[in-house]
Amino acid sequence: MAESVRRVLGKPGSVDVRPYQRLLDSIEAQEDELRELGDAELTARASDLGNADLPYDRGDLVTLCAVGREAARRALGERPFDVQLVGLMALLDGHVAEMNTGEGKTLAGALAAAGFALRGQQVHVLSVNDYLARRDAEWMRPLYDLLGVAVSWIGQEDTSERRRVAYTADITYASVSELGFDVLRDRLATDDADLVVPTPKIALIDEADSVLVDEARVPLVLAGAAESGDADLEMAELVRTLRPRTDFEIDDDGRNVQLTDTGIDVVEKALDGVDLYSEDDLSMLPRVNLALHAHALLRRDVHYVVRDGKVKLINESRGRIELLQRWPDGLQAAVEAKEKVAVSETGEILDSITVQALVLRYPTRCGMTGTAMAVADQLREFYELEVAVIEPNKPNIRADEPNRLYATREEKEDALVEEVAEVHKEGRPVLIGTQDVAESEKVAERLSAAGLECVVLNAKNDADEAAIVAEAGQYGAITVSTQMAGRGTDIRLGGSDMADRERVVEAGGLYVMGFGRYPSSRLDGQLRGRAGRQGDPGSSVFIVSVEDDLVVNNAPETRGFDVTAEGEITDPSWLRTVDHAQRVAEGQLLEVHRNTWRYNQLIDVQRGVVLEHRKAVLSDDLGDRQIAVDRAERHAELVEEVGEEEVKRAARLITLYHLDRGWTDHNAFLSDLREGIHLRFLGRRDPLDEFHRDAVPEFKGFLDGARARAAESFAEAKVVDGTIDIAAAGVKRPSITWTYMVHDHPFSTDFESIVGKVKNLGSPRQP
Ligand code: ADP
Ligand code: MG
Repeated sequence: MAESVRRVLGKPGSVDVRPYQRLLDSIEAQEDELRELGDAELTARASDLGNADLPYDRGDLVTLCAVGREAARRALGERPFDVQLVGLMALLDGHVAEMNTGEGKTLAGALAAAGFALRGQQVHVLSVNDYLARRDAEWMRPLYDLLGVAVSWIGQEDTSERRRVAYTADITYASVSELGFDVLRDRLATDDADLVVPTPKIALIDEADSVLVDEARVPLVLAGAAESGDADLEMAELVRTLRPRTDFEIDDDGRNVQLTDTGIDVVEKALDGVDLYSEDDLSMLPRVNLALHAHALLRRDVHYVVRDGKVKLINESRGRIELLQRWPDGLQAAVEAKEKVAVSETGEILDSITVQALVLRYPTRCGMTGTAMAVADQLREFYELEVAVIEPNKPNIRADEPNRLYATREEKEDALVEEVAEVHKEGRPVLIGTQDVAESEKVAERLSAAGLECVVLNAKNDADEAAIVAEAGQYGAITVSTQMAGRGTDIRLGGSDMADRERVVEAGGLYVMGFGRYPSSRLDGQLRGRAGRQGDPGSSVFIVSVEDDLVVNNAPETRGFDVTAEGEITDPSWLRTVDHAQRVAEGQLLEVHRNTWRYNQLIDVQRGVVLEHRKAVLSDDLGDRQIAVDRAERHAELVEEVGEEEVKRAARLITLYHLDRGWTDHNAFLSDLREGIHLRFLGRRDPLDEFHRDAVPEFKGFLDGARARAAESFAEAKVVDGTIDIAAAGVKRPSITWTYMVHDHPFSTDFESIVGKVKNLGSPRQP
């Protein structure tokens, strides 16, 4: 189809952006007049826009774009391109704007955020990491100043005092995880004054597909301190002796491992003839399972690294080490035992929230990314978001070469090294995208053995990585990086200062090489998008082998193939097999997402009921009123003894404690339930129905139960030195010790199950 025709029709399933484009002339028509204004007058024009509510009518929208453009020109020295204004309008309408890498989404997003803020709606701009939250807030600050809106950002190190202040700004930039932890901590607050996060209004999500799709399933977890765990060295040793395929089997998708009958025999013998499935000792099987998971499914340098005597997780979708992440405790301890490092403290999960639930709190959501259309269906299904495809500012001239397919990994590596050497001779910068940290290191080794010096990006910090990636377009640069390392950073040809641009353009621009295809075409697209920004020359190629995990796991083929002398497979049907494998992987991920979504919906409803109640206790005197009803006599006594205010305080704390305690226990129940169902009903009945059947009645008496326990504690409370001693009444809040993100891969739906098992080991639930 001719480009001009496609432009008019737009992509099927995407938002029609022509109404936005039609405003561009009117916007430009205001430009000369606005240039004449002083800064203060420009600011006044912006604040005039605050005299109405959302949404913007046509006239005001034109003014917003024109004023925003002029403010950006003055404050940042960048006059927003038409496409950025189209993006801004799509965002204001609550869509996901698909704009390629390097198109200037930061600025388009900032103008949209200002548009919301000027109409009195607080905006949270959500980034994928702390570094980007801070960078973007500071970068856009002069623009916001000129538009008269206040901006702030949240960092990992911030105290709750600073956070509270930061959240009062019109626009707050935060990483998804910091926001999530703040929300979780607020859910355990015992005093109104301790609350940090304001009522959610607008979420503007950068890298929207990563956050909303890739990380949607990730629970953010708040854990409280408990005792230090024991290293299960015995089990770690035992499972080390088990033989793959004979004693245990790993599912095709690498997410589950089970003992075979032979394996069960071996383990039972090694443990002096215990019966793993005996009702008398329920602790043995989970211990074996945890050790086996750690042994068989979690690979050092792929899923975690060992540094300074500690096990540190690698976030696979980002390919970096995450400081605050750990696995659920039993698994963490099992990996620590496997690696023979000291076992860290264990804890109890107080509460958790998925990224998806976090985002859905906002009545208005919008976002931007380079790759949204490929997940348009999911964005619609899970978030009621539509995608607006924004044309690039300058036509994309990047050459995307067909995949090169090799018979073995070895040949694939050889081909990569050879190709890099060839391209490097011309001084052309090369960016190599790998699947994980271990692979990056291996590739780097091979390259340097061939005399090709390269920079490897993986487990460093975001700021350092950004600085390195910014130079990946330098003449002669070779950069090896996991998929998302250093993201959010622009790769300019000729280095960040573009000093050498001419030479690099002449050499052909950035050459992006994918070392293996990713589990989704969208991720391939993200890597490709690093080249060819703003009409730059550039090209991309993926080098693949039929031995790649993606192919082996998702499209195992037995038919043969012919190879060239270099081991390359040119048969087009084999190339289609690779595409097919990727589609299978995409389908699986979607299924996992949909499953988690369905389970979490019910959990979120129940959590919502508890939180609603909690809010009432926190903000008025609901706790006190209930106690007064339930324990009228004791209440009257205490009021006389210590005064009304003190009774209110104690009633509130006691009520909140039992609500929170009850939720922690209920949460553990749900995890166990889900695990049990997973094992019992797999493939026979709809596990979700089973889950509902037990989870709903279990929750029925929740609030009454919490209330009754609160009344009991209250009855037992004694007065010491004029205050009610609630600790003596058993009200001891766990201190919040950790926040972490659980990455469900490779366990998918079973992940929480491990938490459930562990919880049973560590702290038996009250009957
Ligand atoms: P994206 O997030 O879309 O990949 P960024 O927001 O990081 O892109 O912007 C990429 C680069 O383009 C930045 O260096 C920014 O300064 C520059 N840029 C953005 N908008 C403009 C503009 N209108 N004119 C000139 N440069 C711009
Ligand atoms: Mg960006």
